[in-house]
Amino acid sequence: MGSTRRLRALRDPLHQEDLTVRRAFDTWHRQVRIPQVRYIALLTALMYFLFSAVEQSVATDLHSARLLAHAALVPGMLLAVAAMSFRASLQRPMWALLMVAPVVANGANLYLNTGSPQFLVFAPEIYLSIMWTFAISGLPLRQASIAAIAIVALVIAAAFHQPMQGELIQLHLLWVLAAFSFGGLSAFILERARKHTFLQQRQLERSAQIDELTSLSNRAHTEQLFEEERARTERYGQPFSVILIDIDHFKAVNDTWGHNAGDRVLRQFADLLRQNLRKVDAIGRIGGEEFFVLLPQTDIAQAQVAARDLQARINAFDFDTVGRRTASFGVTEHRPGERMVDTFDRADQALYAAKKNGRNRLEVR
Ligand code: GH3
Ligand code: MG
Ligand code: MG
Repeated sequence: MGSTRRLRALRDPLHQEDLTVRRAFDTWHRQVRIPQVRYIALLTALMYFLFSAVEQSVATDLHSARLLAHAALVPGMLLAVAAMSFRASLQRPMWALLMVAPVVANGANLYLNTGSPQFLVFAPEIYLSIMWTFAISGLPLRQASIAAIAIVALVIAAAFHQPMQGELIQLHLLWVLAAFSFGGLSAFILERARKHTFLQQRQLERSAQIDELTSLSNRAHTEQLFEEERARTERYGQPFSVILIDIDHFKAVNDTWGHNAGDRVLRQFADLLRQNLRKVDAIGRIGGEEFFVLLPQTDIAQAQVAARDLQARINAFDFDTVGRRTASFGVTEHRPGERMVDTFDRADQALYAAKKNGRNRLEVR
């Protein structure tokens, strides 16, 4: 059991992540590969034009079919891939075409050369294109594997129609096997490394947004969430409100019971906020013992109800070691068109008034 899981983790660093993370990886991975796809497709199309020119003087038969395959069909598909890579809306068909192009190229090769004495001169295109599909094209591992397996299936089917000696066929199939293994392994290793990079990047992003002590949003993330809500409001015209909360006489907690007890109160306070707000509300710790709540689609009257409810929960809660604590609340509604600092300033004034008027109360501005 344990070793199977280790094997899966080795195979796929994302195996424990949920579907949204895997989807996010796929999207990101495809996005970072677009330039590779574009330039490789262009270069490969150019190579096929060159190949086609040389082939015309080397090949002994099927000249017009060769011209059609190597000067029109295959480079045409690749040029289409390169062109589609510029349009986000065409990326789905682009990936599909990139998968099909090497299969078509190999199908054409096998059709043109199987059974002919010049087969082995043209066989390197097969070996190279299997490597190309896996390690050069820019296809994700899954799609590359499907295309490469299709190519190998065509090669094996064609081998039965070869009048070559058995040993030569064996050698040919050995090169195909080598191309498939080297290509497959390198694509696998590259994709695993990309998954690691992706996960690390996500963790960094998260830790830059999270307050370590309480796991709430930190100040910077809080401001980002505020700006996002402000943009939504401007588009849809719905109200939203904010509550600033500051624990009363918190310095005395530290002074009496020590800093660790103070930290525990902060964590329990954060849990209280989390448990008593909606899932859509954003909660942040923006200072030592100062918290921020963003209430989307909430007007000032509803925000007041939410703040009173929080106050009641806090008053009724027994904190570890220190017992009952109180907090003061500043409540305000964002006004259309105003900047973030204006809303924050007003909430701050309300909080200041709550402190001045005796604490354990809420004021509205
Ligand atoms: P008021 O009722 O006016 O808000 O009084 P107060 O004592 O809560 O406010 P003051 O701003 O004077 O003190 C806040 C204290 O919070 C001071 C600081 O030592 C403490 N503090 C800030 N950050 C942390 C933290 O992360 N952990 C702990 N344990 N204490 C902290
Ligand atoms: Mg305080
Ligand atoms: Mg304070």
